[in-house]
Amino acid sequence: MFCLECHDEVEAKAIASVDVAAYFSHPPKLPDASDLDDCSRAARSHRLRWFGDEDRDDASGRRVRQEFFDEGTVKSAYALCLIYAGRGNLPLSKFQEMIDRADRLDIWSYAGMEVWCIPQVLLLLADFGVDTELPCHFALVRTSKLSAIWRQSGPVSIKKLFSDTGNEARTIAGQPNPRPISRSDAADVSTSWIPAGLAAGLVACSRRQRDWRSRKR
Ligand SMILES: [Zn+2]
Repeated sequence: MFCLECHDEVEAKAIASVDVAAYFSHPPKLPDASDLDDCSRAARSHRLRWFGDEDRDDASGRRVRQEFFDEGTVKSAYALCLIYAGRGNLPLSKFQEMIDRADRLDIWSYAGMEVWCIPQVLLLLADFGVDTELPCHFALVRTSKLSAIWRQSGPVSIKKLFSDTGNEARTIAGQPNPRPISRSDAADVSTSWIPAGLAAGLVACSRRQRDWRSRKR
C-alpha cells in the first residue's frame, strides 16, 4: 500500500482494533528531512501537526485553488502574508515555496476549505527571516486540526513565534499576538502598492503545480 501524499510504502495498523482508528504506518523519516517538507499523513512533523488525514473534496479543491489565483485575491493574500511575516521577509521566491508546499499537501481540497482561510494556512508553511537576527514562524492556537479555522464557531487564532527562543512576538502587523483569523482579514489589506511585475509573478506561482495533477487518490 502506498501513501496518497508522499507515495512511500505504508503498512496498515490497528485495523482489527475497536478502540483505535486504522492508520497507516510510515517508514522512519530521513534524519536530514525538514519538518515542513515531511508527509502530513505520517503524523510525526511538529510543524505540520494541523495537517493530515481529514475529509477531502477534490472538486471544491480545484475551485478554491483557481479562485485563489485570481489576481486580486492572490495580491491580497500576499499583502497579508507580508505584513504578518514582516517587511523584507517575503520575497517572491519565499511565497512560491509556500505555494509549492501547499500543493504538495493539497491544502486546497480539505472539505469546507474556503479562499479566505488560505493566507494564514500559507503562513504555517514557511520559516521567515531565516537570514536575519529574528527568524520567526507561525502556529495555530489551541487547536489540533486545520479545519477548525472554517468549522469552529469562534475564530481560531494564529500566533507568531521567534524561532530561536520560541518566545511569542508582541504583535502581528501592529495588532496583538496571537491574532484571530477572520473572513475579512485579506480583503482589509491594501494592495494598491503592488507593482504590475510583482502581481504577474504572484499569479505565475500557480503554474508549477508540482504533484497536483499527478496525484493519485
Ligand atoms: Zn505519507
